[in-house]
Amino acid sequence: MNRPIVGYHLDDEQHWVAELRCGHNQHVRHDPPWTNRDWVTTPEGRAGRLGSLLDCRKCDENPPGP
Ligand SMILES: [Zn+2]
Repeated sequence: MNRPIVGYHLDDEQHWVAELRCGHNQHVRHDPPWTNRDWVTTPEGRAGRLGSLLDCRKCDENPPGP
C-alpha cells in the first residue's frame, strides 16, 4: 500500500528510516549496487522525497482497522 513519507530518522546502525503517514517506518538504505538511494544520503535529497510514496508492506500485511 503506497504511503507518503512524512519524516526520517536514523536507526541504531545509522541507516535511514522513512516515517510514513500511516505510522509505520521503513528503511530507505543506500546499499549499492543492490539498492541505489543516494538521495537519502543528503539533506536536500531527503527533503525532496518528503510526500513521495513508499510501498508499505506492513500496511499490506496488517491493514488499519475500520
Ligand atoms: Zn503502513
